[in-house]
Amino acid sequence: MKRLVFKVGTATLYENGKLSNRIDEIVKLLSELNKNYEILLVSSGAVGAGYTKCPLDKSKLENKQALAAIGQPLLMREYKERFHRFNTTVAQVLLTAADLDSRKRTEYAKKMINVLLENNVIPIINENDSVSVEEILFGDNDQLSAYVTYYFDADMLIMLSDIDAFYTDNPKTNPNAKPIKIVKEIKNEWLDNECNPNDEFATGGIVTKLKAAKFLMDRNIPMYLTNGKNLESVREILKGHQINGTLFLPKEGK
Ligand code: GLU
Repeated sequence: MKRLVFKVGTATLYENGKLSNRIDEIVKLLSELNKNYEILLVSSGAVGAGYTKCPLDKSKLENKQALAAIGQPLLMREYKERFHRFNTTVAQVLLTAADLDSRKRTEYAKKMINVLLENNVIPIINENDSVSVEEILFGDNDQLSAYVTYYFDADMLIMLSDIDAFYTDNPKTNPNAKPIKIVKEIKNEWLDNECNPNDEFATGGIVTKLKAAKFLMDRNIPMYLTNGKNLESVREILKGHQINGTLFLPKEGK
């Protein structure tokens, strides 16, 4: 059975500081797909959820860690209740970079993930932000989801973002920018740009997505980037039709 990793960003889950009903659509899609695929979900949103209860100054590391500690159970509750409607069981998995920094530790983590998947449970993964300090930080969930895809042997990473696709230029500043449907090579100069997340609680931007894609393409794993508002494009890409978004394809397929 094919194994898919989905990454959902904070800007997709939250709108104007409130949980958007997109989460319902995402849960429906993943529950549907869970019949034919093994599904892992990397979800951001803990810090954003924490802020809705306790608006701390998140520029301080300890406050951000506290916000994640407040928000992670709130986020999980939102997922758990919705997945329950589809009789889908979910599990919370919080990782730090140290959990994947040696072959032995990665193997332990993979064995646990395999048990969840064999039992038809969807792991909902996030960085363990409340104990993550610089040395053990993945940094952003774009990177984390790429590592999860590779180290847990998934066949593809699907990023549900507030970005529609990878464009020839910044679509916010250049109206002539065009979406690129298929990328087979990531140019180094693309990675030199600054990371500009679209949401104050998000960490990544297009550059972190390109870095994630490069990491996977170098390991022969494809990544699909599409807008979390348009889930039909996910159903279609899994049938082999690309209606929008960007498909990052390695030279040799997996
Ligand atoms: N782990 C952070 C959170 O749950 C998000 C990191 C990211 O946006 O990449 O809020």
